[in-house]
Amino acid sequence: MEKTTQLYEGKAKKVFATEDPNLVIVSYKDDATAFDGAKKGTIEGKGSINNRMTNYLMQMLEKEGVPTHFVEELNDRETVVKKVSIVPLEVIIRNVSAGHFASRYGVEEGIVFDQPVLEFSYKNDDLHDPLLNTSHALALKLATKEEIDRIKELSFKVNDILKAFFLSIGIDLIDFKLEFGKTADGTIVLADEISPDTCRYWDSKTHEKLDKDRFRRDLGGVEDAYQEVMRRLMGK
Ligand code: ADP
Ligand code: UDP
Repeated sequence: MEKTTQLYEGKAKKVFATEDPNLVIVSYKDDATAFDGAKKGTIEGKGSINNRMTNYLMQMLEKEGVPTHFVEELNDRETVVKKVSIVPLEVIIRNVSAGHFASRYGVEEGIVFDQPVLEFSYKNDDLHDPLLNTSHALALKLATKEEIDRIKELSFKVNDILKAFFLSIGIDLIDFKLEFGKTADGTIVLADEISPDTCRYWDSKTHEKLDKDRFRRDLGGVEDAYQEVMRRLMGK
């Protein structure tokens, strides 16, 4: 499978067309951004780790019955995926308070929730991805009621699977962001990535942060944290 024209360059990935209209190739970059693009940098080796970690987790999710866009890993940084039309909703699942949940509602980080919290934000850079609920999403016609119900169901299922998996490698899955897309026949599949860029991972024993918060908050040891999660994952 060969790349043809570049369709899109985002903050962390490039998307290329292929000879097959139903398939695209995503290419993961080492570029990192935070705070709505205000902070920019590079995390050495991140592209390769995020590509391989996403593919590992998506294949695990597929086996457990979650449809994903994954098709084939081409090399360290590049993967063939089903071309989808991305539903413009970012789904955030939270098991423990952190980040914007803590700042928005004025609570400390680290409060363990009795049940997971699901949040939607409108995937729209110009509007800075505002938080919205199901009625807003329906009013804005971002998806149908059936699609939103399916997205919620799949997101909670992904959480159950990933939370248990990460616990088995000594990591608490604090929160994460998912994106879903629609294939040519209208099927909802999990798309985009699942990586330390899009999840918060805390070491279960030490509570050390093993994710992009090390970059956001200038904690140092960013590359080491990404590698540590990958090492534990591959050791399974
Ligand atoms: P951003 O657009 O936020 O800067 P990225 O740099 O990760 O993010 O760019 C990747 C883009 O590709 C995202 O907009 C994402 O929604 C989109 N995307 C992810 N998976 C697919 C897919 N299977 N088909 C088409 N587009 C996808
Ligand atoms: N997240 C993401 N992309 C976004 C916003 C959030 O991947 O555009 C992830 C983030 O890494 C974290 C979770 O979603 O794991 C919850 O993020 P939060 O709302 O707390 O915002 P943040 O503090 O990350 O800006």
